[in-house]
Amino acid sequence: MPTEISNAVFYAAVFLGVVYTSRILEKKWPIADVPYGEFRDDWVAVIVSVGLENMLAPLAAISAAAIASYAGLGWIKLPTEGYWWYVSFAIVVVALDLYKYTYHRLQHAIPFLWAMHSFHHSANGITFITGARHFWLERVLSDAFLPVMAILFHIPANMAIAVGFIFFIPDACAHLNVRIPLGRYVTWINNPQWHRIHHSVHPEHRDKNFAAFFPLLDILFGTACVPKPDEYPATGLVPAERVDFINSVIWPIRHLRRRKSQNELSEAAPGAVPPVAGISGP
Ligand SMILES: [Zn+2]
Ligand SMILES: [Zn+2]
Repeated sequence: MPTEISNAVFYAAVFLGVVYTSRILEKKWPIADVPYGEFRDDWVAVIVSVGLENMLAPLAAISAAAIASYAGLGWIKLPTEGYWWYVSFAIVVVALDLYKYTYHRLQHAIPFLWAMHSFHHSANGITFITGARHFWLERVLSDAFLPVMAILFHIPANMAIAVGFIFFIPDACAHLNVRIPLGRYVTWINNPQWHRIHHSVHPEHRDKNFAAFFPLLDILFGTACVPKPDEYPATGLVPAERVDFINSVIWPIRHLRRRKSQNELSEAAPGAVPPVAGISGP
C-alpha cells in the first residue's frame, strides 16, 4: 500500500539520519577509539537481534494480549485535562523508569537473565548502535510476559508516543561514544559517561549506574558511582568476548559454556585467569 511504503521510507530515512548524525558526533568528539572490527561485530549483533525480535513479535503480542485480557488493562486512569496531562506524563515517566531500573537490576542478579543480558555487556567498544544490542529472546520474553505498564496505566496515544520519545533520548544516547562534559549535572539525566561506568571492566564499577533515565534512582537505591570529570573506563566483559552471527543467536549457551571453562582454568591455576564477569558482572 502506498501509505505504508511512504511510512516505511520515512522511518528508514529518519533512522539513517539519526545513525549518520551519531557517527559524525562520534568521530568528532570520541570517548574512546572503537576499532572497525568491534563496530562491525556490533552491527551484526544488532541486525540478528532486531531481526529475530521482529520475527517473534507476533508470538509475544499473543502472550501479552492473553495476560492483559486476564489481568485487565489500564487499572489506573490518569487525568489528562489541561495541565493534568503534564502531571500524568511525569507520573508515567517516573513509573516506567522505576520499572526499567528494577528489571535491569534483576538482569544482573538472576543468572538466567544475566545469561542473556551479558550479550549487551559483551560489546567491547560502545557506540550509539550498542543501545540496540540486546539478546533477541530477552526482548521477546519481556514483551510477552511483562506488559506491566499497559496493565497499570490507561493513557492516551499521544502520551504513550511522548513517553517513548523522551526515553529514547537518555536510553539510546547513553551509548553514544561522545564526550559530553556535563560537570556536576552528570547526575541529572542518564548520559554516556554515567552509563559507561555501568559497562566498565573495573570491579569497583560492577553493578553500578543502572538507571535508564534518572541517575537519582541509583543514588536513592545505593547503586550510584558518580564518575570523576575525566573518568571514562574501558568497557566490556572480563575476559573480553567477541560475538559473530552464530553466537548472536545462541549467546547464553556459548557464554555459559565459556564461563564454565574459564572457571575450571582458574581453579586449575589460581590467578592465571582474570575473574569472569559473571552473575554480578559489569
Ligand atoms: Zn546492564
Ligand atoms: Zn548499556
